[in-house]
Amino acid sequence: MIKVSDLKKDFPIFDREINGKRLTYLDSGATSQKPNSVINEMTNVYTNMNANVHRGTYVLSSETTAKYEEVRNKLKNFINAYSSDEIIFAKGCTEGFNFLANSICKDLNAGDEIILSEIEHHANIIPWQMAAAKYNLKINYINVSESFELDFDHLESLLNKNTKVVSIVGESNISGMLPDIKKINSLVKDKTDAVYIVDGAQLVPHRKIDVQDLGIDFLCVSGHKMLGPTGIGVVWGRKELLENLDPVYGGGDMIEEVFYDTATWAPIPHKFEAGTPPYVEAIGLGAAVDYLFNLDMNNVQKHSDDLREYAKNKLGNIDGLNIIHTNSKLAGCTFAMSVDGVHATDISLMLDTFGVAVRAGHHCVQPFHRKLNLDATFRATGYIYNDEEDFDILSNAIEESIKLLT
Ligand code: PLP
Repeated sequence: MIKVSDLKKDFPIFDREINGKRLTYLDSGATSQKPNSVINEMTNVYTNMNANVHRGTYVLSSETTAKYEEVRNKLKNFINAYSSDEIIFAKGCTEGFNFLANSICKDLNAGDEIILSEIEHHANIIPWQMAAAKYNLKINYINVSESFELDFDHLESLLNKNTKVVSIVGESNISGMLPDIKKINSLVKDKTDAVYIVDGAQLVPHRKIDVQDLGIDFLCVSGHKMLGPTGIGVVWGRKELLENLDPVYGGGDMIEEVFYDTATWAPIPHKFEAGTPPYVEAIGLGAAVDYLFNLDMNNVQKHSDDLREYAKNKLGNIDGLNIIHTNSKLAGCTFAMSVDGVHATDISLMLDTFGVAVRAGHHCVQPFHRKLNLDATFRATGYIYNDEEDFDILSNAIEESIKLLT
């Protein structure tokens, strides 16, 4: 069980007041707050052991390198990867998709097909669009129903021998949709030889993930949404698949040997980590993984499910509020909302006066907003440091804002 009042003490930002009110932070879908353990760990590296990794033969460099490489192992255990060599550090989920799209699509043939869904984040659209234009590939989008769920019949109808990539969000940053990953995986594997990539940006912070059990091929992870610092994320891939991919960035430690006219690549994971890596951020992410591991991801998941249930009922009772949220029994604690005739930015500015932080805009899911005839929504997302009181404050603030703005 997570006791929010105790846990909040680990997060110094909650000492702040906003507009004379307690901070009600409901924007963890954009980025999570950071516990002292993450902040202190990064300060510790800079204060006591800073040196570039993989380079020095001296004490500082060996210590930093050991800590950096230890994080790979923590992440391996966290998502149950087969090997820590499968953990590739990237700047974030977006860079992860850019790497995968560039590296995978280079080996595809003109006319090959990529399947995404209608509710993808731009991070899982644009890199594929860019690669599709370069290599003459076709992108198909799985329909998302009126209840904000994936249309599996449509997915089945799209799968064919030309399908080479299926890349779908693991937890929607708009509707909270949690697609059945195992079901998608078995459909993809039964009907195609495509790789199945899961966008784990919102999924991994909230739910216990076991990549071996899911049977997927790649997973992109965002560090800053799971209590870690910005500038760090992970691409996990099956070893045999990663070994067959070419690097996209060159330089630094990603080489085995360099000649004036050519070069050979280091083994995975280093083959994909060009230049000085964000080792301090990676070490900070390691502290975030420890924090979540100590809470136990089963508790984190239960907290998200309970809070979502409460928030859904609470927000569902507000007159005049439209909520983009799946009807499914299982979903993330994410609610994109709109009020007819009122711009989402105006509502979010009003909510700020109550100390409530939510995000307004298309949340990098513009095509799906367009499909709903909306240019923007305001979005509340709950995380481990949020409780029922946060959603009470939000609901009250929304009601007051609607009264004032309509
Ligand atoms: N995918 C989803 C579903 C997201 O919500 C986000 C961030 O908002 C991303 C990808 C991009 O992640 P990052 O900020 O790590 O690049």
